[in-house]
Amino acid sequence: MSCIVENIHRLRDAVPPEVKLVAVGKTRSVEEIREAVSAGQILFGENKAQELVAKYAHLPAVAWHFIGHLQTNKVRHIAPFVQMIQTVDSFRLLEEISHQAQKHNRTIDCLLQIHIAREEQKFGLSEDEVFGLLETPGLKDLNHVRICGLMGIATNTVDETVIRTEFRMLADMFKQIRQQYFPAEGSFCELSMGMSDDYRIAVEEGSTMIRIGSGIFGERTYR
Ligand SMILES: *Cc1c(COP(=O)(O)O)cnc(C)c1O
Repeated sequence: MSCIVENIHRLRDAVPPEVKLVAVGKTRSVEEIREAVSAGQILFGENKAQELVAKYAHLPAVAWHFIGHLQTNKVRHIAPFVQMIQTVDSFRLLEEISHQAQKHNRTIDCLLQIHIAREEQKFGLSEDEVFGLLETPGLKDLNHVRICGLMGIATNTVDETVIRTEFRMLADMFKQIRQQYFPAEGSFCELSMGMSDDYRIAVEEGSTMIRIGSGIFGERTYR
């Protein structure tokens, strides 16, 4: 069995069955992604619009999630097929996603990305900003997006206490927002947190969706 197939089986055994596994194939070849497909993997994440479009052309049948920083002018390239955009960080972006999805008669699932890490450079909404977005009057008119939950990236550190505190903060925010803004909607149900080095902590803190790259495909080498 190839490493990729083995890694997926090992991960599936390590997390509860209801936790979704997104295989992050950024920088990886279509052949490597095909191997993951052969292991039964169905959700895939990419962080660059161009790379996502190119891979979709080879593998149109899998479910593609966008997990990188998304510029509004790139939305139209992925809107025809992307299943979920996990990195919504402004109302303006949400408007554009809805606008482009409408053109294709689709509804795109979205997660709001929350800035939980200590690092300055990580994208995402602050707590104030996410509540501001949810209170924006025009939100209810965006009929071609569905806000399905929150996503966050913890600080890149070996200090597990820091990571756990950040995931717990995100999980608390998720519960509060669900109760306050989506009480009747079962669709607000995803909490995307956890990567190769911290998914165990994330799952313990209530993650419903982990995003694994190197833990499936091996260490990335950027060319
Ligand atoms: C690259 C990436 C991942 C996967 O990272 P690994 O550490 O390789 O598992 C997860 N989420 C996002 C947003 C990423 O950019």
